[in-house]
Amino acid sequence: MKKLKSVWIIAGGAERIAELSAGAAAWGEETALIYAGDREKAAGAGTVYYLGPLTGVSYLSYIPAIVALVREKQPELVLVESSCDGRLTAAAIAAAVGVSALTDIDSLEADADGGGIVGRRMIYGGAAWKTERVSGPTAVVCVGAGVFPPGETAPPPGEVIELRPEAAPGTRLLEQQKKPAPNVNLPAAGRIVGVGRGLGTADNLGAVRAFAAALGAEIGCSRPVAEEERWLPKERYIGVSGVIATPEVYIACGVSGQVQHMAGIDRAGVIAAVNKDKNAPVFRQCDYGLVADLNAVLPRLTELFNRA
Ligand SMILES: Cc1cc2nc3c(=O)[nH]c(=O)nc-3n(C[C@H](O)[C@H](O)[C@H](O)COP(=O)(O)OP(=O)(O)OC[C@H]3O[C@@H](n4cnc5c(N)ncnc54)[C@H](O)[C@@H]3O)c2cc1C
Repeated sequence: MKKLKSVWIIAGGAERIAELSAGAAAWGEETALIYAGDREKAAGAGTVYYLGPLTGVSYLSYIPAIVALVREKQPELVLVESSCDGRLTAAAIAAAVGVSALTDIDSLEADADGGGIVGRRMIYGGAAWKTERVSGPTAVVCVGAGVFPPGETAPPPGEVIELRPEAAPGTRLLEQQKKPAPNVNLPAAGRIVGVGRGLGTADNLGAVRAFAAALGAEIGCSRPVAEEERWLPKERYIGVSGVIATPEVYIACGVSGQVQHMAGIDRAGVIAAVNKDKNAPVFRQCDYGLVADLNAVLPRLTELFNRA
C-alpha cells in the first residue's frame, strides 16, 4: 500500500493512542497527534499538538481549535478515537472540511480505484455490514478498538508543540467525576471464556473462574448475564452493544450464539463452544463444539488443563 503523506490521530487515553499510533504509522509517512490532558503523557506521534489540560475544562471547548488546526494543516487522514468526544470532534472536522465522517469503523483499507479510504462497520444490530468510502482533502474516520494491532515498538516521543488555545465559550464544565477504573480489558485479552445464561446460576461462576484460570483467560459474558441476571459486571459483556474483542481463543460456555453476541467476537482466532443444545446457533459459528452440560464438563476440562 502506498503510504499517505500525513496521518493524524485524535485520542485521549494511552491505550488508544498506542493503537491508533500504530495504525497511523502503517498508513502515513508523517504522523501527528492532537492531545488534551496530562502534559507528560503528550506523546505518540512524530508531532504532538498539545492543547492543554482537562482540569476544569470540557474537552468540547477544544473542538474549535482542533478543527482550525486540521483545516490549516490538511492531513490526508484523521483517525479519531471512537468515543462520545471523538465522534463529536470527527463530525465537527468533517463539517468544516466538507466531507463525511466514517464512524465506528472496524476495518479500514485504501480504495485502489478511487484513491479514497474504505471503512466497514456493523449495522442492524450486527446482522449486516456496511462498507463506505470517504475521500476529500481530509478523510475523517472514527475507529473502534482492535482495528489496528498495537505497534511492536513504542511510538516516538515526538516533537511537542504547545498550542494552549483559549477554551471556546459555549460549553461550560459543571462537574467532573472520575470513572472507576475498569477491572478488565477484554479488547486486549488473548483468551476469553464467555459465560452465557446457560450457566444457570451465579453459584456456578466458581467453576468458570477455575477454568479461566487454568487457561490464563479473562472472563466475558453475554448481555443477559450482565444486564438481566447481573452475575457479572456490564464491562464484561461482549457484543454489538458491549465490548468488541479479538482474542486468539474464545470459549463460549452456555452462550446461544445470537448474532448480537457473536458480532463482538467474530474476529477471534479460534472459537470453541460448549452448549447442551446441539441446534444452538453457536455451533454454526465455532471451530470446535462440545454438546454437553457445561457444569459437568468445565471441572473436567479444568483438571485436564491444570495437568497439561
Ligand atoms: C439491539 C440488541 C442488541 C443486543 N446486544 C447484545 C450484545 O451486545 N451482547 C449480547 O450478548 N447480546 C446482545 N443482545 C441479546 C442477544 O440477542 C441474545 O438474547 C443474547 O446474546 C443471548 O444470551 P445467552 O446466549 O447468554 O442466553 P440464551 O439465549 O438464553 O442462551 C443460553 C444458552 O445456554 C444453553 N444452555 C442452557 N443450559 C446449559 C448447560 N447446563 N450447559 C450448556 N449449555 C446450556 C442453551 O442451550 C442456550 O443455547 C442484543 C439484543 C438486541 C435486540
